[in-house]
Amino acid sequence: KSLRKAVIAGNWKMNKTPTEAKELIAAIAPLVKDAGCDVVACTPFVDLSSAQEAAEGTNIQIGAENCHWEKSGAYTGEISADMLVSMGVKIVIIGHSERRQYFGETDVTVQKRVRAALDAGMTVILCVGETLEQREQGITSELVAMQTKIALGGVSAEELKRVVIAYEPVWAIGTGKTATAEQANEVCHTIREVICELYGKASADGITIQYGGSMNAANAAELLAQPDVDGGLIGGASLKPNDFAVIVEAAT
Ligand code: PEP
Repeated sequence: KSLRKAVIAGNWKMNKTPTEAKELIAAIAPLVKDAGCDVVACTPFVDLSSAQEAAEGTNIQIGAENCHWEKSGAYTGEISADMLVSMGVKIVIIGHSERRQYFGETDVTVQKRVRAALDAGMTVILCVGETLEQREQGITSELVAMQTKIALGGVSAEELKRVVIAYEPVWAIGTGKTATAEQANEVCHTIREVICELYGKASADGITIQYGGSMNAANAAELLAQPDVDGGLIGGASLKPNDFAVIVEAAT
């Protein structure tokens, strides 16, 4: 675990105007300046510029929450990876469960988006995770393994160095229900085994695997202390500077 880079990434979802984004980054920056982990804030597209401006000279990296698989064209409402790169955004969340649930994202479109982001030179935070129904059916491991394998189809070991995987049980996202530290570690470990099977031990030992799902200031330390949990993808708590800073501190 000590060999791996911990990454704490905020996912702001559909929150904050550009002006508010600037204020939020400015509030977070002094609190996380001594972080021993990577600190990322993924913001709505319209906030990227102002968030980047506020993050200049700090250790906060600004990321996006999605990107399309084509470079340009007739895809109304979408944003390409190249567009993000052109404005200096180098990190993007792909396959978040809210996109899978509400916007028809499938394992296949996730794979295409991962491909496009990597081709553009970006780092991807790839989200996988089971629903409550799937957990109760006892298919969590198979499901998460399959999501991971499909999303990484065609990704080389070299490219994998620019992939962070976020294990996010859908039943824990925005619900206040956190996976227990054991549950989080168990699935993160399963994902690491999948990476080992696909790419070998060095890649498995090196890849950053986050937990996400109602991680907060109170439960972060226990989750992040797990051997296979290398960071967190943080929704609600990433909008609260003090809470986010406590989580960053717990990962350090
Ligand atoms: C998320 O949006 O990825 C997430 C984990 O949300 P929350 O922390 O609010 O559950």
